Amino acid sequence: MEEKIEKFVEFVNESENIVFFGGAGVSTESGIPDFRSKDGLYNQKYKYPPEQMLSHTFFMNHTEDFYEFYKEKLNSLKYEPNITHIRLAELEKKGKLKAVITQNIDGLHQKAGSKNVLELHGSVLRNYCMNCGKFYSAEKVFGEDDEKIPKCECGGIIKPDVVLYEEGLDDSIIYKSIYAIQNADMLIVAGTSLTVQPASSLIRYYKGNKLVLINRDATIYDEIANLVINESLGKVFGKLNIV
Ligand code: ZN
Repeated sequence: MEEKIEKFVEFVNESENIVFFGGAGVSTESGIPDFRSKDGLYNQKYKYPPEQMLSHTFFMNHTEDFYEFYKEKLNSLKYEPNITHIRLAELEKKGKLKAVITQNIDGLHQKAGSKNVLELHGSVLRNYCMNCGKFYSAEKVFGEDDEKIPKCECGGIIKPDVVLYEEGLDDSIIYKSIYAIQNADMLIVAGTSLTVQPASSLIRYYKGNKLVLINRDATIYDEIANLVINESLGKVFGKLNIV
């Protein structure tokens, strides 16, 4: 394992155009539960399964129930970036890392200082009135007041800018992600099982010879990767010395 991490550090040192593609596993070390893992958000107290509660239809028809779940489970304001978020921000600042592509909606990459973050599934930090389009921060939505459904000053319902089930992804984010991956000399894919689209199809755009997969479990892409590390992300990124 140590040899693999040394190889990872070597790859990072010799690369000038790194792209990072991350999933839920990047944030679990900050304490944020993984949606899809067995010990994640599933198997819990709610009347409906999370996949249903986080769907567009459910938001429209059961807005109060949606927000009860959303405020309890998806409030990332109380969490802090971990060593992986921090090292990625440092690599960007040094000019070595060009983009972070993430499936997470928690905003922790930005909190760590990353600038070019391509959020495939949106962000809890952005919220808009469905009536007039006015922007609201996460504090408004997760705030302590007893407003069950966050409302705009115009009376309209506020909707988080996150991609719910049944909703399409933002094409411009997809195109930017493809462009970043095509131009990368090193692609790090971490904390994702790669079973959710468009993750697995995006990776196909990488043409280099430094594809690194860091994940707790094996993935279907292990065979095409140049380096596979089944180790905690914190342990791997903790070995990077960025000066
Ligand atoms: Zn409004």
